[in-house]
Amino acid sequence: MDQSTTVKGIEEETSSDFPLFDRIESREHEQVVVCSEPQIGLKAIIAIHDTTLGPALGGVRMWNYNNEHEAMRDVLRLSRGMTYKAAISGLNLGGGKAVIIGDPKTEKSEALFRAFGRYVDGLAGRYITAEDVGIDVQDMEWVHMETKYVTGIPHYLGGSGDPSPVTAYGVYMGMKACTQKAYGSDSLSGRKIAIQGAGHVSSHLAEYLSNENAELYISDIDEEKVNEVAENTGATVVDPEDIYGLDVDIFSPCALGGIINDDTISQFKCDIIAGAANNVLDEENRHGQMLVDHGILYAPDYVINAGGLINVFCELEGYHRDRAYKQASRIYDTIYDILTYAENNETLTFQASNVLAEKRIDSVQRIHQIYAPNSNFSGRLGEMYMKDRY
Ligand code: NAD
Repeated sequence: MDQSTTVKGIEEETSSDFPLFDRIESREHEQVVVCSEPQIGLKAIIAIHDTTLGPALGGVRMWNYNNEHEAMRDVLRLSRGMTYKAAISGLNLGGGKAVIIGDPKTEKSEALFRAFGRYVDGLAGRYITAEDVGIDVQDMEWVHMETKYVTGIPHYLGGSGDPSPVTAYGVYMGMKACTQKAYGSDSLSGRKIAIQGAGHVSSHLAEYLSNENAELYISDIDEEKVNEVAENTGATVVDPEDIYGLDVDIFSPCALGGIINDDTISQFKCDIIAGAANNVLDEENRHGQMLVDHGILYAPDYVINAGGLINVFCELEGYHRDRAYKQASRIYDTIYDILTYAENNETLTFQASNVLAEKRIDSVQRIHQIYAPNSNFSGRLGEMYMKDRY
């Protein structure tokens, strides 16, 4: 694994002039599977980035991409991100992702998802799929009819159900690690915390924070949701556009991506940003550096929100709720180590996280060079997965 891999700009990457193998090699992918079933309208791409640590796991996304180059860019980018997320979270999983090209509002059918399931099954456990943007429980039930290599499925299908409570717990622990680093104590009692979003993750997060007597401020564009969370936790409701400029200790983005940008950074008065939302830095390097310049500690999104991935990993091994929470509590140490590494090496926190993730992958790769005749971790995980469920 090499961070210096040349990843091109969006225009270059989505250009039809960018040769397929160069595309795949630019992010060091192992395998890319293009699935086509014209009679039922399936156009899907499955990308397996790296399986050093275990089977590639990542959700399937259905999106109305403008063209296949955009779909290819998305699946290559997202699957690589999953490799880093699993690695830094201490999971024995590789990185993978799938995209189905189509309008999730009008182009879904049983046949489409069952066909996708067959392609996943054909990979024999090298790729394990899950729900992502544009996909719902019904779609996953159809996929599950054709393959065992599905996770994050509802309780009634033998799965672990909604991962949001575990994600929220991980964010809570990561927030405490940031507080320890910034203030020398990880107590959140009396800390002023602004939460953006009052959805699945934040409703649970607000409960943890309220139980620790934090002073909460919350916003959502959905009045009903925000009022409900405020009622349950004593949080003060704030207008969505006012959430960035509050004079608080911690800002917790739990709604949208791209919200750390030129406009919001100039408004922030917080010391710490720690939340569940994915891809919150509009431009990773530039806005990551701007946060440092403003003296704001940033907990990398893909690390602090890994509770959901941890939860589905535990589902693969036979789900135990306590184990999922125990593993998610380690996000505290992971975030603390990343902040320390970034401080000692004068690097951005998300870059520090990438370096530490690569170190873990490289060390496991070295260990795998030791000849052990009966060892086959991926196979064992696959066997456990099937044994527990079937
Ligand atoms: P959700 O859809 O339940 O909640 C998101 C909330 O944000 C909604 O209530 C929505 O109304 C609100 N919102 C939208 N625009 C807003 C705005 N401009 N201002 C304020 N609020 C706004 O989603 P969730 O499952 O709670 O996930 C929240 C974030 O965390 C997402 O970015 C998601 O990708 C990420 N995440 C979630 C999980 C998980 O386990 N659910 C895991 C990892 C990452």
